[in-house]
Amino acid sequence: MTRTTPPRPLDVEAAFPALAAHRRTTTRLHPRHGLPGVGESSVAGPLLWPADEPWPVCTAVHPKGTGHLLSDVRLYRRIQEDARGREYTEEEQRLLDGMTRADHVPGLHDDAPVPMLAVAQLYAREIPDLVGPEGQDLLQVFWCPFEVHGDDRTIDVVLNWRRSADVGAVLMPQPEPPVAGRTQCVPTTCVVFPEQVVEHEYLGLLEGELQEQIDAWEEGLLDEEQEDETDPSSAASYATYEEYASAMAAARDAEPEEISYMSDLSIAPGWKVGGFASWHLTDPAPVDCGVCGAAMPPLLTVDMWECDGASRGWLPIEDRDSENDPRVIDPTDVYLGRGLMRVHTCPTDPAHPHRLSFQ
Ligand SMILES: [Zn+2]
Ligand SMILES: [Zn+2]
Repeated sequence: MTRTTPPRPLDVEAAFPALAAHRRTTTRLHPRHGLPGVGESSVAGPLLWPADEPWPVCTAVHPKGTGHLLSDVRLYRRIQEDARGREYTEEEQRLLDGMTRADHVPGLHDDAPVPMLAVAQLYAREIPDLVGPEGQDLLQVFWCPFEVHGDDRTIDVVLNWRRSADVGAVLMPQPEPPVAGRTQCVPTTCVVFPEQVVEHEYLGLLEGELQEQIDAWEEGLLDEEQEDETDPSSAASYATYEEYASAMAAARDAEPEEISYMSDLSIAPGWKVGGFASWHLTDPAPVDCGVCGAAMPPLLTVDMWECDGASRGWLPIEDRDSENDPRVIDPTDVYLGRGLMRVHTCPTDPAHPHRLSFQ
């Protein structure tokens, strides 16, 4: 099954032609629980990793044995899913009680190299907005699942680009760290349903005049709504209350849903490749390359939601009947920062070190 973003409620470039200069495409990944193969793009699936190549490790010095066993994280999620809508069985409750944050690997030294966690692999043939070094068509993303690295005290992300055609025998089984600092640093395995959509720049980063036009348009929509609410066509002008009620219901149905540039017209929610960065929780902060100074666009966005209440209009048409299903709304079980983490890469030279930003 594919995933299809519903059409935007307004042709925003027709309404504001200057926005055409602030358009970019993004590929929404639409991760959903599944069993991907090494030849497919995935979240937390098996990687097309050569049998004779060392797996990335974290060599930073930090406690590596204390946290949640990855096996517990997966068992916990399986029990949650099986038990949805009913009480836990005694056996399930016994298993859940046994899962704790603890020093699970007491002998593991802080400076021991531990395998990085495979987070995603993305093939350029499936993801049109995935642009990396010349000739390399596969991006493999890892992180160390402890929020202790760098100035931001967060996970450490490693990007590995390769030419998929060069890979012969694939490494099996694939290493992983025994423990994660927090359960929400561990993605649930998902297949992806990539879909390219158009985005427009974050409101606060548009030129002042354009921002003012959009603000004025939104205020106009708000005024219209308020006028509707204080409409003097009160119950008195209808013969019966039933007529009045059905007229009001018809008016409600005919009225377009409340729309806003930020929620509906500019930036897609969910995991995605390319596109724009949203700065809804902080003021926009420049993300520039530490080597050459170029502004770095987001390559990969990792979001806690497929969409939330405000961005519900981006929920794929195919998922409309499942909008309260956690497997649709929160398919990966990842929560970083205050819900959103981005990996930015240098447009001048993809080999320059990436940077992370959070919302
Ligand atoms: Zn680490
Ligand atoms: Zn650079």
